[in-house]
Order: sequence, then structure tokens, then C-alpha cells
Amino acid sequence: MGAQRGASEASGAGESQPPALEVRDLVRHFAGRGGTVRAVDGVSLTVGRGEVVGLVGESGSGKSTVGQCVVRLDDPTAGTVRIGGVDVTRLSRRALRPLRKDFHLVYQDPSASLDPRMTVGRIVAEPLVLHRMASGDALRDRVAGLLRQVGLRPELTDRRPHELSGGQRQRVSIARALAVDPLLLVADEPTSALDVSVQASVLNLLADLQRDRGFGCLFITHDLAAVEFLADRIAVMYLGEIVEQAPAAELFAAPKHPYTQALLSAVPVPDPPAQRARERIVLHGDLPSAVFPKGGPVEHAVDYCRFHTRCPLAVDRCRTEAPRHRTLPGGDHQVACHLVGDDGAAPDAAHPERQDRHTTHTTHTT
Ligand code: SF4
Repeated sequence: MGAQRGASEASGAGESQPPALEVRDLVRHFAGRGGTVRAVDGVSLTVGRGEVVGLVGESGSGKSTVGQCVVRLDDPTAGTVRIGGVDVTRLSRRALRPLRKDFHLVYQDPSASLDPRMTVGRIVAEPLVLHRMASGDALRDRVAGLLRQVGLRPELTDRRPHELSGGQRQRVSIARALAVDPLLLVADEPTSALDVSVQASVLNLLADLQRDRGFGCLFITHDLAAVEFLADRIAVMYLGEIVEQAPAAELFAAPKHPYTQALLSAVPVPDPPAQRARERIVLHGDLPSAVFPKGGPVEHAVDYCRFHTRCPLAVDRCRTEAPRHRTLPGGDHQVACHLVGDDGAAPDAAHPERQDRHTTHTTHTT
């Protein structure tokens, strides 16, 4: 379903206001045993005001690290993060404090993110108090209103997190995050710690709130069905970089990158004959380690496609040259794969470059 806005409308094309989030060439490297852990390696993406961008990929792809850098729970090695046009990348904690009302993170595990000593009312009220946005009766009314908006009875105000169900706790997290009307919500796997039976209701809640309040949302998940439901655009991450980005409907209808094709082939479709006719692309092996023995300084480029060890279509060139990020005709679909045609044709087994391929696989992992 998604948030049902065109990307250009959602991203505020033609408006003078800067987008909710602009990430440019974001890098987060760690020193690791045997080389550099390139957890995030040159990620660029934009979340328009009122737009939902899904950031998807396997565990270890670096998507949560992007989220942590965006909300400044982690410090990027290089690159910039702008929220509402303000560069927050290198602001001190003190300088960042008044800006924190503009962006909030909803964590995967609400049990870990809510202070067990505080009541629900205090948890939701705290950001309003910190940013001096309400007090007294007005504060109580705001908290009660927020609890109602997330589907919780105001009588729960005096309960503590351990007295609530997992779904109720995540609703409290969402109420707290939205209390100060942020420009940007970063939701990092917000439903994956919940029972399957309550995941859909929390997703519906997020979709309703996002539509009503119009905040931008970076929705980080490995759940492709959830991202199809919620996102206007989707960015696919693999081993620290975005390999494909496109409007959600376009990505699901015509994925170009072999990794995206493999991910989407595992998503069931609600039409039984179409489901039977689908061919599942099975990737062999897990996501490789993000330790690059040849990696080092930020500027030291990786000179191969990171996906070549698992790509069913890899050719010799994929092992010696990193694919460029190209924008396909139409201007709203980016992909990094040697075999995607300049006209946007997806790669297939009959691609001319595959005529002379050999089967030797090298590896860049440790
Ligand atoms: Fe596969 Fe090569 Fe394309 Fe990488 S560049 S996704 S290895 S075909």
C-alpha cells in the first residue's frame, strides 16, 4: 500500500523547503582484526518531507548503522547528514540538543528502549518537557491525546513498561517519538521483536500516523512485505552500500539488480497462479564479512562488485571493477551493476558479457 504519494510530490519537488533527511556519501568504518570493517561505505539517500523511504537488506548489510549515524547515536567516519537542511554530522552533543526534537528513533526492541522506572505518562511527556513545549494541564492533555492517537487508553498513563504487552510498549515508543512533532522518524525494525499477531496492527498505526502527521520516515527493515506496504521509495543495501534505489512500485514490478531480484523473488504474491509461476532465486552462502583486507583509508576504493561472490550472473569484470551507480532513464531509479543496460534492461543469463565467463570465484572476505 505504501504512503500513497508520488515520489516527486512526497519529496517536495518544486518546494523551497529542504527535505526531511539528506545523507551524502556516508561512511562508517571500524578498525577490525584483519582489515577495515566497512560497515557503511558511501551511502547517499534522501527522505522528502512526508515521504517514507524503506532501507532494506540482510542482517549485517549496514542499514542499522546508517540509522544510528542519522540520529547521531554513532559518529560517521565521513560524509554528511542534513536534517531539514541543517548539517548535524559534526555538531557537538550540546549543539545537537535543541535540534533533537526534529528527529527521533523508534527502536526494534521497545523493552530495551523504555526506562523501566518511569510511568507511561512520564515516558511520553519527557520530550515535551525537555523541549519546553508543554506543562501543567496542557502537558497532561497532550500525553492523553498522544496515547489515544496510538490506540492506548489514557488509563495506562500510570503503568510501567513491564505491565504492558510488547505491542503496547511499541505504541508507547511511537507516542514518545511523535510527541514533539518531528520532521523525521527513523524506525529501525519497529515490528521485528513483536508477535506476528501484533506486527500488522503496529504497521497500520505507523502508516496512519505518517499519513495524518506528514513526517518523513526512514523505515529500516529486512521485512520486504512490510516495506512494500509502507514505503514510497526503497533503497536496497548490500555489504555497506546501496545497490539499488527506486520508487517502491517500480522496484517491486521491475527490480534491476541481481541482489534485489533474489530478495524480491522470496516475497509471496497473493495470486496463486502467479505465485506458482514464480521462480525463486536462491542465493548461496550468507552475507560475507564486512572486513575488507584491502580496505583501509576511506578513499581506498573497493575494486570489485561486493556481490560477486554470491551473484548468479557474475562475469570476470565483476571481480576486478566496482560497478558505478547509474541513474536509469526516467531519473528516479539508481542501480550499481555492470550488466544493467543503459536503457534500464535488467541483466540476464544471456548477457553478452557472460559468453566468456569462467567459473572461478574469488573472495574478498576473511
Ligand atoms: Fe552481479 Fe556483476 Fe552485477 Fe555485481 S556487477 S551484481 S557481480 S552482475
